Amino acid sequence: MDKLTDNNLKNKNFWKGIAVIVDHNNGDINSVTLELIAKAKELSEKANEKLYAVFIGSSIKASAEELLYYSVDEVFIYEDTELQHFRPEPYASALEDFIHYVKPSIILSASSAAGKMLASRIAARFKTGLSADCTSLDINEKGELLQIRPAYGGSIMAEIITNKRPQMATIKPQVFPAADKSENPSGKLTFRSPKDLTSGINILEVSKKHKEIGITEADVLVAIGRGIKNQKDIKMAEELAEALGAQLAVTRPLTEMGWADASRQIGVSGKIVKPKLIITLGISGAIQFTIGMNKADYIIAVNTDEKAPIFKVAHYGIIGDIYEVVPHLIKLIKGQEEV
Ligand SMILES: Cc1cc2nc3c(=O)[nH]c(=O)nc-3n(C[C@H](O)[C@H](O)[C@H](O)COP(=O)(O)OP(=O)(O)OC[C@H]3O[C@@H](n4cnc5c(N)ncnc54)[C@H](O)[C@@H]3O)c2cc1C
Repeated sequence: MDKLTDNNLKNKNFWKGIAVIVDHNNGDINSVTLELIAKAKELSEKANEKLYAVFIGSSIKASAEELLYYSVDEVFIYEDTELQHFRPEPYASALEDFIHYVKPSIILSASSAAGKMLASRIAARFKTGLSADCTSLDINEKGELLQIRPAYGGSIMAEIITNKRPQMATIKPQVFPAADKSENPSGKLTFRSPKDLTSGINILEVSKKHKEIGITEADVLVAIGRGIKNQKDIKMAEELAEALGAQLAVTRPLTEMGWADASRQIGVSGKIVKPKLIITLGISGAIQFTIGMNKADYIIAVNTDEKAPIFKVAHYGIIGDIYEVVPHLIKLIKGQEEV
């Protein structure tokens, strides 16, 4: 193993390949991993480089083998009972070993709590850059990763290039389509051990979070914004959501006012959603919001202001007051009124 010295850290030719950090729960691979693999595959083909996955956990061999059906050239497995639950220090030690051993030019990580914690530690350790929550990625002929994300409060889309190696980016779930499973596996598994398994964190108990369908999984969403005048009026939107079998989602001002839980917020600082249908009620359509929902199959917007930017992304628009339109919609859906 070539130890990375200050000199070869700077030498870009020293770094090759694109790696995805596997995001998982106890070995169950989260779909964001397959989304990152699909994007990494596209970049690796463009740059003619290898595609790697780094899988850190306990009893993960069977899950790691699954990844060979997704065109990964090599899966690096760091397996130990001490790695069963995410703890930043031993996970970072494993990833550090991988970077010294493989020297990947690019590392992609999910924007999950664990992914962000791990990626930021590694970026600091290697004194390299890290772009959080990228909404698009590309690679140029020099092998530079073009990391695209909103900046300056969403007023511009910044294209970030990292001068150091590895080039690192985190990406939220649902930003890219997931990789397709092939019929035959290819590539290989390589087992390695982290150098240091010690941690200052002692996990006493792990309990499962109560799982309800979140806004990222829902097929239909009713999203409300500042057009809702009073917290009690949210009931009206909830009634529409119930009639449609939809989940309720919100813009950031509503979570800031404490009217809704942050888990329901759509946008750059919330969740990226791709439902079959989203109905937005009293939402202006600021870029920080639309980035989180503009890939929905159908967007219907209701707004009193015909110039509201939401109408630029909507497939169907209703220029009108939600306090008049929504009760009509509810009655129509329930068959209590005719069109
Ligand atoms: C760094 C940063 C990150 C951000 N991240 C997010 C994010 O993740 N998600 C997010 O949502 N925002 C985010 N924002 C905030 C964002 O810029 C907007 O301020 C926000 O999305 C606006 O929310 P809104 O559409 O509910 O409110 P407004 O912009 O106030 O729009 C309200 C709309 O309701 C319409 N309206 C009013 N009354 C009625 C009525 N009776 N019937 C019909 N229409 C009516 C108005 O015409 C108006 O268009 C972020 C901002 C920054 C700076």
